Amino acid sequence: MKLSHLVLALLLLLPLPASAAVKVVATLPSLAAIAREVGGADATVESMLPPNIDPHFADAKPSLVVTLSRADLLVENGLELEIGWLPALVLQSRNAKLAQGANGRFDASTVVRRLEVPRGAVDRAQGDVHPGGNPHFLYDPRAAAAVARALATRLAAIDPTHAAGYQSRAAAMATELESFGRAQTAAFAALPAANRAVVTYHRSLIYLCDWLGLTSPISVEPRPGVAPNPAHVAKVLAQLKTLPKRVILQEEFYPTSTTSTLARLGSATLISIEGGTRFDKGKRYIDHLRAISAPILAALSR
Ligand SMILES: [Zn+2]
Repeated sequence: MKLSHLVLALLLLLPLPASAAVKVVATLPSLAAIAREVGGADATVESMLPPNIDPHFADAKPSLVVTLSRADLLVENGLELEIGWLPALVLQSRNAKLAQGANGRFDASTVVRRLEVPRGAVDRAQGDVHPGGNPHFLYDPRAAAAVARALATRLAAIDPTHAAGYQSRAAAMATELESFGRAQTAAFAALPAANRAVVTYHRSLIYLCDWLGLTSPISVEPRPGVAPNPAHVAKVLAQLKTLPKRVILQEEFYPTSTTSTLARLGSATLISIEGGTRFDKGKRYIDHLRAISAPILAALSR
């Protein structure tokens, strides 16, 4: 037995503090924020990643194995977004509650409408394409509302005593998200149609564009997960110059050397998109969406 396993085995023998709250661990801060709102006082919630880390290639801390070993429920994004780092940690946690298909494992992607589901086999030459569809649905309040409702049902199954509380908090959250979503869709729809085109960095913003009625004629990455090359950047610049409102959207964890050059050469506005809810700062998921949509609307309205 390796020393780390021994330490873990000993930790598991320690009595846990008596508490009725369901222990939820979410992979991403936006999922954690949704779980905190639905769980209320009946759940404790931790996020495995901070918001400014690229969830495709996260360097997840080994200390999370202990957190996972004590969890009652693991909430993951799914669609292979966390495939590079989550499976090994779950395996090491030896927590049977979190096994695939168990009540303690919640895959948010199973309850949302998926975009960019590839037809036929996925070819590595297409870049970092996720075979089940594009996994970046947490930029859409309609998807988050569906996640909140389904999460309440799951929490109620794990902790039936507090079922009514989970359901009513989720219903309130989903209603608020859907009405906010509709109001933003309407505000963007009021812009001239030609203004509603933006350049994005990675194909991670398609759900955001779908929600706000934006088109993204070109991405700075030539293929998902593939770094920009000079020939493609020239193409992006040419396309950018055709747009009436020149806006580049990029999540905060991607490198900005190419995009800041594009912004300078194309006289464009580079908008940094929050990669996730500032869960660690006590922010709500809707705060995250507001922080994203407000500067885009302002830039396209100018
Ligand atoms: Zn991606």
